[in-house]
Amino acid sequence: MTFPRIGVIGGGQLARMLAPAAEALGIRFSVLAETADAPATQVISEVTVGDYTDFATLKAFAETVDVVTFDHEHVPPEHLRALAEAGHAIRPGPQALIFAQDKILMRRRMDDLGLPNPAWAEITSRSDIEGFAERVGYPFILKTPRGGYDGKGVRVIDDVDEAAAWLDEVGQLLAEEKVDFTRELAVMVGRSPMGQTAVWPVVETWQQDGVCKEAIAPAPGLAAEKATEITEAILKVAGALEVTGVMAMELFETPEGFLINEFAMRPHNTGHWTQDGAVTSQFEQHLRAVLDLPLGSPAAREDVSAMVNVLGAEHEDLYHPYLHVMAHDPAVKVHLYGKGVRPGRKVGHVNAYGQDVDLVLARARHAADYIAGVDPDPHPKLPSPADLDANANSATDPA
Ligand code: ADP
Repeated sequence: MTFPRIGVIGGGQLARMLAPAAEALGIRFSVLAETADAPATQVISEVTVGDYTDFATLKAFAETVDVVTFDHEHVPPEHLRALAEAGHAIRPGPQALIFAQDKILMRRRMDDLGLPNPAWAEITSRSDIEGFAERVGYPFILKTPRGGYDGKGVRVIDDVDEAAAWLDEVGQLLAEEKVDFTRELAVMVGRSPMGQTAVWPVVETWQQDGVCKEAIAPAPGLAAEKATEITEAILKVAGALEVTGVMAMELFETPEGFLINEFAMRPHNTGHWTQDGAVTSQFEQHLRAVLDLPLGSPAAREDVSAMVNVLGAEHEDLYHPYLHVMAHDPAVKVHLYGKGVRPGRKVGHVNAYGQDVDLVLARARHAADYIAGVDPDPHPKLPSPADLDANANSATDPA
């Protein structure tokens, strides 16, 4: 058996969704999971349960695999460096991953690379806060440089006392201007150790309370020159940091161009649409990239794809709504993660695709929200084929 073995640190939904790609490619695959019932442990037979912050646990796991990769960015950087120095193939490597782990180091590096950042400052004292407020005015954004996810660790700041109280608790913060963006965008690349790259189309994203809720591919109405600039930017970062695997870059679109928000160096929520909407999914590409195999085509298979997250809401039972969702729209694709429901928790997503962006998005929203049990009132009515015909007719009929 010459097929290599990949070890994934973290047993969340991203590790779980790597499994079908590994199975198809015949890649052996094991997981170091936090708990015995983590999402990936339900579908992967080779599971070690252990603490990813403990070096001895990481080392013992790394010994059993050919390549180590990740479901999250929370493994301590010093452990990753020690594993790499001991000769383990850590992909992405610690020299790249640090820029997804530490937002201050990331901002500094983006400035060095000449890429567009929001105004920012490292904050370690009350006078840093006052200085930044003088520069950009209130409100501005404060973030914990490390350990944040899904908007946890991001606050809008209206006065110095509030910021100083938080600084006292955590010791170091990243301040950013509050960007008046027109919308949020994201782009993903796969890059292999040999330096091959493949970039998927730029997507539009929407975050609800700091949590990704929707992604539309390609980003509707994005000018071709802007899409090219964004593609060039992610290629520049991936090359400069020698990223291996897939990487996501989140962006703010502004009237003048775009500003970089942050990076993830692993499969990412804004790339879930690729499971059903692209020739190569981000999960397959991640495996190919970390194994230094030739990459798959990132081309879209559909005119429009939409991904809407199932965020925990009214329903504990997510299975019963399948009856309606599947009967109502046999073309939507449901992906659930085997997680218990808590309010706002990401428990799954739905992909839909087709030609008309409003209709595709409405279909994905309807299915995702129906499964979660979200009150459908805030969403637009699902257009029926008859409505669409009527619109088409009124648009072409001058009478
Ligand atoms: P996390 O690492 O928790 O995902 P992010 O830094 O991506 O945190 O921030 C979460 C969300 O908060 C962003 O998607 C965006 O909607 C908002 N946000 C973050 N930084 C800024 C900023 N500088 N200006 C305006 N909105 C921001």
